[in-house]
Amino acid sequence: MNNSSEKDYFESLISLEYTHTAGSATTRFLEAVAEGKIVGQKCPKCSAVYVPPRGSCPRDGVPTSEEVTLTDRGCVESFTVVHIPIPGNPIEPPFVSAMIRLDGANISFLHLIQEIPVEEIRIGMRVEAVWKPQEEWTTSLENIKWFKPTGEPDIKPESLIFKPK
Ligand SMILES: [Zn+2]
Repeated sequence: MNNSSEKDYFESLISLEYTHTAGSATTRFLEAVAEGKIVGQKCPKCSAVYVPPRGSCPRDGVPTSEEVTLTDRGCVESFTVVHIPIPGNPIEPPFVSAMIRLDGANISFLHLIQEIPVEEIRIGMRVEAVWKPQEEWTTSLENIKWFKPTGEPDIKPESLIFKPK
């Protein structure tokens, strides 16, 4: 480099396409999501319900073959306020990404919270899924556009602590 203001790297956009093999438990989950249902799996030893299911209980090391159908309602387990836009996503920052714990589940998954001012979102807030129109459903959790408040009373965060049976 001749000049200290010159970069010793260059910036370039790249595009990568890949195929993800979901595995049997996640495949079943995604097939159900394509029908507007959310299914998890229950551990035969500790009764923990995993959604999305992974096919086994990490606590007990046993297969989780019992399927459980869950509601699309739950609560905010934790969240973060995002101030950086997602490329190609129309949602304007700041927005909230939250770990959603569905009723009857013992783990949470990441999704968006909308239809409420960011500063009013809180841990324990009751939320429900807002689904895309059915004709747009695919085998993706993106069938749910986001979660919105139900208006029900908040739950106590300590009620989310799992106690194995
Ligand atoms: Zn277990």
